[in-house]
Amino acid sequence: MASSEAAVTSQPAGADSATRAADLCALLEDYLEPRQVQTVYKAYQFGAAAHEGQRRLSGEPYITHPLAVARTLAEMGMDAESLCAAILHDVIEDTPTAQAEIAEAFGSDVAQLVDGVSKLTQINFRSKAEAQAENFRKMVLAMSQDIRVILIKLADRLHNMRTIFVMPPSKRGRIARETLEIYAPIAQRLGINSVRVELEDLGFAALYPMRYRVLKERIRRQRGSQREMLDTIRDSLAESLTQAGIEARIIGREKHLWSIYQKMRSKQAGFEDIFDVYGFRIVVADVDTCYRVLGHCHGLYKPLPGRMKDYIAIPKINGYQSLHTTLLGPRRIQAEVQIRTAEMDRVAEAGIAAHWLYKDAGMASSAAQTRAREWVHGLMEMQESAGNSIEFIENVKIDLRPDEVYVFTPNGDIMELPKGATVVDFAYAVHSDIGDACIAANIDHRLAPLRTPLETGQTVEIITARVARPNPAWLDFTVTAKARAAIRHSLKRLQGAEAEELGRRLVAQALSALDLSLDEMSSAQIDHLLETLGVERLAEVFEQVGLGQRMPWLVARRLSGAADGTAELEQTDTSGALSIRGNEGAVVTFARCCRPIPGDPIVGFASAGRGVVIHHQSCNNIREYRNHPEKWLDVQWDAIAEGDYPVAISIEVMNNRGVLASVAAVISDLDSNIDGVEIEEKEGMIATMRLVLSVRSRVHLARIMRRLRGLSAVLRIHRRRG
Ligand code: MN
Repeated sequence: MASSEAAVTSQPAGADSATRAADLCALLEDYLEPRQVQTVYKAYQFGAAAHEGQRRLSGEPYITHPLAVARTLAEMGMDAESLCAAILHDVIEDTPTAQAEIAEAFGSDVAQLVDGVSKLTQINFRSKAEAQAENFRKMVLAMSQDIRVILIKLADRLHNMRTIFVMPPSKRGRIARETLEIYAPIAQRLGINSVRVELEDLGFAALYPMRYRVLKERIRRQRGSQREMLDTIRDSLAESLTQAGIEARIIGREKHLWSIYQKMRSKQAGFEDIFDVYGFRIVVADVDTCYRVLGHCHGLYKPLPGRMKDYIAIPKINGYQSLHTTLLGPRRIQAEVQIRTAEMDRVAEAGIAAHWLYKDAGMASSAAQTRAREWVHGLMEMQESAGNSIEFIENVKIDLRPDEVYVFTPNGDIMELPKGATVVDFAYAVHSDIGDACIAANIDHRLAPLRTPLETGQTVEIITARVARPNPAWLDFTVTAKARAAIRHSLKRLQGAEAEELGRRLVAQALSALDLSLDEMSSAQIDHLLETLGVERLAEVFEQVGLGQRMPWLVARRLSGAADGTAELEQTDTSGALSIRGNEGAVVTFARCCRPIPGDPIVGFASAGRGVVIHHQSCNNIREYRNHPEKWLDVQWDAIAEGDYPVAISIEVMNNRGVLASVAAVISDLDSNIDGVEIEEKEGMIATMRLVLSVRSRVHLARIMRRLRGLSAVLRIHRRRG
């Protein structure tokens, strides 16, 4: 190319860019016509002249940037028009060169592409959110006219991210966040995996530099220690495939940092808990071989249950196809294996850009391109129905991020939660006071329990109650860090307060057995007590009693002045019994062996660290307390005991189909829930169902059992205890 010399002499710094342009053309010669390569080179000369004298923040001549953008597109195998437009993409915006000039020199298609890319970045906005939203709206509009606009824009962003370190740190965050929130998801949606992965890791490094560095170092070290085992897995896979006469390419791979980080965040897990960091890709000739290779993999190593995915039969929405499985290797090492054909591999990396040229040559467009066009079409419809840009972008984010759910408050505010988030997560996302007091929710005007996972688009209204408290069981199903931290915090705070309240009641009860009351105690008596116990405040004494660390009768005796407290227990009458309301929180627990419910005769035991444990009076486990009468507490149900209590029942049934359904229908009809089911088949037609139900009282349980007995399939039914 003789003309390149002109560039060298006209500008000293151009030497480097001329070399880059020549390198680009060499790459293009592999798949474009010589005439097309020449046009691209002409675009370079045009662009270099237009940007003459301009420099990037890094100090390099400006033209190096559009050249780099074009190179990314060349690596994807894009057509000559896209490459010309990529080289000229900043010409209209940054220089006086008009669109008409470009049209004249390179044709109207290239001019329109350049115009489309320029328009994406050209407006002044009042707020950042608005700017971002409007930007995106324009992106969709441009895409709908020619989807190549977005490919150029993605390559543009990729190069800007690669060189983001020259930006002042204050600007990096915004750009990185926009990259992670909008550009990477679009690349994913279009199936351009190579670009998506790089955008995500660059965005991660720019947004959270420390976390990025630490994680990278962890992986580097772990990789070293696991290499041997990974090599073993790889070698045995290779050998097994060779023996079977299967030709395959096995490529070692590693999850990229951003996806590991996301996984750690969504699972609230440490790095050690993320097992499938390493894996292999096996590329073979045809679909049939993919399934055979899968069989060989599972023959060599145990597959992890539930992890096998057939994206060949059911491709992902962006056109991605592959078989996935996770193998359990030596020393519990997990390796995710992807199996696909060379063709699928190409689509997995280049997505919509794969086969761009075939389409040009008049062949049917690829499945990925068809899907992308459908997607953009859907976006256009959304954009027409949305009231404004911000609303539109919220809708689009929903569409772009399948790992998140977006739900609405009754006021129409949108809340973004990770997938799997439940009613409790939502409640705490609204406010921690709402979380602490939540008891249920109306989801789209239907009542739903706290553990219900939310789905995008639902409107969620939290129902609160003044007496409600956070429950330790919530930690089993909440997924957001905010909710989990708030629950733990409240539980700790409540346990102290509840223990104190319970302790006060226990001491008062013990005093009343001595015909005394707390109010009668003089400050001298109280001081004396604190001194003998070596405790600072009376509240602390109560808390210790409530937690079962001190015996209430002993405290009562010390208070009353009875010297040693070793005297035997006074007989207490039932009127002095501690009444249980069921809302005491963590300091009163109901024994799981006998599951007492309101109405049952009960007995309580003080247990160090656990407060009071309530058992059924006929429970077998209370025998061991016979020799510890000082631990017995006189308890009775309060007349207004509240809440649901688990109770276990056993039902013998004729084992016909649908019997569980009819049992369940009765239970829910009577306003109870099934918390657990076990079914044991006996010989022949009879089965035993063991259920755990939640009931309010003995009366409630009796009604349920009566109705169940009435079912024709039910032979026998009884409550299980102890
Ligand atoms: Mn640019």
